[in-house]
Amino acid sequence: AKYDYLTRNADQQNYQTFISSIQSANIEANLKDLTSRPHMAGLPEDLASAIVIEQRWINDGLKVTKPKYNVLLSYPDDNNPNRVTLTSSSGTIIIQTNGTEQVYDITQPKTVNPFLAYTPNGTVSSTKLYYGNYGRLEDLKYLASIVGNASLQGSIIIMRYGKIFRGDKIMNAQYYGAVGAILYSDPIDYAPFGTSADQVYDQKWYMPPSGAQRGSTYTANGDPLTPIYPSTDYMYRVKEESLKYLIKIPAQPIGYGEAQVILQYIQGDNVTKDWSGALPNVVYRYGGILRDSTKIEVRTYNRQERKDTYNVIGIMKGEIEPDRYIVFGNHRDAWSLGALDPTSGTAVLLEMTRAIGEMYKNGFRPRRSLMFCSWGAEEFGLIGSVEYVEEYVKVLGARIISYLNIDIAVEGNYKLRVNTSPLLFDIVIEASKMVPSAYDLAGQTVYDRWMKVDRNNITNEPNINYGLAAGSDYFSFVQLVGSSGMDARYTFDSTIHGNPGSYPLYHTSYEVFSMMKKFIDPDFTAHRTMGQFMGVLILLLSETPILQLNVTRYTFALRQTMNNLKINDPTILNPLRSAIDDFDKTAQDFVRRSKVMDTENPYIIRAYNDQLLQLERAFLNPLGQDSDHTDFKHIVYAPPKTNRYAALGFPTIIDAIASGDKTEINNQIAIATYFVRGALSTLKEFD
Ligand code: GLU
Ligand code: CA
Ligand code: ZN
Ligand code: ZN
Repeated sequence: AKYDYLTRNADQQNYQTFISSIQSANIEANLKDLTSRPHMAGLPEDLASAIVIEQRWINDGLKVTKPKYNVLLSYPDDNNPNRVTLTSSSGTIIIQTNGTEQVYDITQPKTVNPFLAYTPNGTVSSTKLYYGNYGRLEDLKYLASIVGNASLQGSIIIMRYGKIFRGDKIMNAQYYGAVGAILYSDPIDYAPFGTSADQVYDQKWYMPPSGAQRGSTYTANGDPLTPIYPSTDYMYRVKEESLKYLIKIPAQPIGYGEAQVILQYIQGDNVTKDWSGALPNVVYRYGGILRDSTKIEVRTYNRQERKDTYNVIGIMKGEIEPDRYIVFGNHRDAWSLGALDPTSGTAVLLEMTRAIGEMYKNGFRPRRSLMFCSWGAEEFGLIGSVEYVEEYVKVLGARIISYLNIDIAVEGNYKLRVNTSPLLFDIVIEASKMVPSAYDLAGQTVYDRWMKVDRNNITNEPNINYGLAAGSDYFSFVQLVGSSGMDARYTFDSTIHGNPGSYPLYHTSYEVFSMMKKFIDPDFTAHRTMGQFMGVLILLLSETPILQLNVTRYTFALRQTMNNLKINDPTILNPLRSAIDDFDKTAQDFVRRSKVMDTENPYIIRAYNDQLLQLERAFLNPLGQDSDHTDFKHIVYAPPKTNRYAALGFPTIIDAIASGDKTEINNQIAIATYFVRGALSTLKEFD
């Protein structure tokens, strides 16, 4: 009949065509080219990269736009590196940090010096230096309990990288009264095989003594000047002085070679073992007045500046359901050359669009629309993606199927790591069975690899993490739009390399092409696997008439999340428990319905699919967690207030438990119950 094609089934051949089209050599060439110049957000080289992508996508047959936002960014002074100085009582300098990283390859273009974006410019000094471990709230609370709250006032606190978002560390130091903060990467996490020259960069991929992690310290999302609304020309900008999420104290990252000298002057009691790092000749102490009446100074020259940032958006229009989008995104800006973060992702993205463009030229037409995004200014606070989502939140909410993200595509050659909405779990497994594993015998799939090295013994399934935090551009799609989302990367074996929370050279100037080639993915097969895997996922989401989102995975996730809450009196969870039980029944009915519905009827399929999409939307609380976090809207998975990198289950209940306020705990349980009930009602049959 005339409209048969509306329910046409996916052509299975498309998957194989896509998989075999993705070529390692092309990705390698992309990475080499894209990392030949720095591309920090707001600078001309970043726009140059945007134009390269725009041109490539036009050639691939996509419809391309390059939306621009004028936003507040932050830069150090190229001519005056930020420095930390330790001076003796007589005024002689014991150590002044270099402010730059050692150069191993003089042909490499100069990139930005280490700095912490959005920390203010200024000079602060103190005779008191404290060691704050990883800078978590519990670390500083503990430190304060040992040295006394009053002692921390006016001090400088040095903390090691790892465990939580760097901006949260500095916020915590500021909260406890520090006038300045210093971050460094301790060898225990970033050079676990020792600090000798043959064990670190440029001989290995571990942190050398002068290496320092750059990064943003902004603890909210998007352009600091336009909370909630897009940074369009007509939008009102808030006054900078009123920005409470910007750090107020000078802060700077330094190399551990320099931290070692400074820590030799720290006094106070020896720390416990879990606070100790691995710097040679350092006895880790809590701190106090510096030894020999020395004085520590942090001097920074950072400035904030309004700049244009660009997203590049490429669309391949769907043939049957053009008003349904599969959105795939990767940020483009990097602190230095960004060979891992994010350009490994960009190199993969461009190979994916090349392959899909070629399929289009050979007659392939996606069922639903495909939208490819190259985000600007992610490093500063997810700015490009947040502004875009803020501008188009209504249309995205009405039309998006799922948002898929790659940031760092490859940081190891060991296995795939996935964070996802529960709805996408099954489709992730399905894709993993279709794609060959990197650095494995022929015939082994990503799934086989998972089952070998990363299996959950209870469920006998791969370990896949539920929930997305605020670490990359999926944030606004999940929290503002209510889209299901997923993020994937090829990662390293953390049992060998320790578990620093990132690869050792993250956000250093050593993230260069040769580092990737030499130490991580010499054949670019891990990159290829990433491109194949993400592409298959896009096709599974775009081509299947009935969306393969699985609601019963959410039942399990909700139960597990509830059971993980540390609550003394389990009866106060009864309302939530019974809501989840009802969710369970409704979800099962919903799945049963799909087995008996008339799949020849496009209206019925469309209605069923819409219910699948509405489920994730229904988990958003439009008010957010509280008036300070209106943009953390997802009731089940969102970051807690203490760490942007973590995606906790029922974060508002967890924060209430942490506050110890019983009324507030009950209040938050009631609110979560309300949203679980709202979500299950979207799955009911229409009657
Ligand atoms: N991915 C960047 C980082 O980890 C930005 C994250 C954020 O602003 O939340 O530094
Ligand atoms: Ca904004
Ligand atoms: Zn990144
Ligand atoms: Zn980054």
